[in-house]
Amino acid sequence: MAEKKVENVIIVGGGPAGYTAALYTARANLEPLVFEGFHWGGQLQNTTDVENYPGYPEGIMGPEMMGQFRAQAERFGTRFVTDDVDRVELSDGGVQKVFLGDEEHRARTVILAMGAEPQRLGVPGEMELGGRGVSTCGVCDGAFFKDRRVIVIGGGDSAMEDSIFISKYASELTVVNRRDEFRASRIMLERARERPNINFKTPYVPEEFVAGEDGKLSRVRLRNADTGEAEDMETEGAFVAIGHIPKSEIVEGQVDTDENGYIVTDPGSTRTNLAGVFAVGDVVDHTYRQAVTAAGTGCMGALDAEWYLRDTPPLAEAHWMPGGEPAEIAPTPGP
Ligand code: NAP
Repeated sequence: MAEKKVENVIIVGGGPAGYTAALYTARANLEPLVFEGFHWGGQLQNTTDVENYPGYPEGIMGPEMMGQFRAQAERFGTRFVTDDVDRVELSDGGVQKVFLGDEEHRARTVILAMGAEPQRLGVPGEMELGGRGVSTCGVCDGAFFKDRRVIVIGGGDSAMEDSIFISKYASELTVVNRRDEFRASRIMLERARERPNINFKTPYVPEEFVAGEDGKLSRVRLRNADTGEAEDMETEGAFVAIGHIPKSEIVEGQVDTDENGYIVTDPGSTRTNLAGVFAVGDVVDHTYRQAVTAAGTGCMGALDAEWYLRDTPPLAEAHWMPGGEPAEIAPTPGP
């Protein structure tokens, strides 16, 4: 196998965090190489109108916005690989390795931006009616359900938070939880209970989301988790809020993660426990999970990587690889 050039920076992930990290590192002349994934664009690729990203007063479609993020990073020399990384070999301050099958890519720094995905119920109609009544993001889509009847599925803090937010718009909101007990913190549950238009239905699980003649969600089939009895409930919106799964499988066991799989970074920074390895966006963030916050941490990751490259003498193995080109690191201004 031919040896490869050692890149300054490899970014793994093609959502708002990854593309913003690419934009900043590209403008710092670090020539980033981005493994953006086969389904590049992250969660916004499955979103319709985005109305809460600053700078778009009329709103923008999620995929179009991601296309613009990508184009902006490309304009300054970012290179993209539209494929999913199979595995990585991370090192503490050495050469970072990223693999596509047997193809090995090396870099002095790597920015992990793989994102997270909403946990799904896995029932019929859930994916098919995404963007047509079924959503996994209350903050993004709640305002589209003004004066409508909606349900929120889940019993954790996310479900309560989504419910409280969406109930400002919806006429009536039903929280559907699979148990009579709620996982949510007492305070969040109380806040939801105080809202006059929120009611609770337990212990029920959705079995199917059903479209009306217009192709949009019109009802959900619920099953009583105790008795097994099924019933239909009319609803124009259904928000699935049963947790998120960080996409950290490829780094599991190599970099510190918390009990839920989120990559752990130093407070106020994107540094992981490994020198030269940075993590940004939703693969780190189990709290905010917004495009704008992901983009913000993408910028932080780029600057952290840039400063690391500036301040860390290159390893001999990073400078010279048999048959490869030396990595060129342009001098860059400090913070
Ligand atoms: P979570 O705490 O794991 O709660 C997930 C909820 O979904 C639980 O009620 C769970 O039921 C239910 N669920 C899971 N799989 C299901 C399925 N297949 N069918 C039906 N229901 C299912 O997740 P989260 O609410 O996203 O919260 C994640 C973390 O973020 C928590 O630590 C939370 O405190 C934190 N958070 C905090 C805030 C805040 O403080 N403002 C806001 C959001 C999130 P079971 O209980 O039966 O498992």
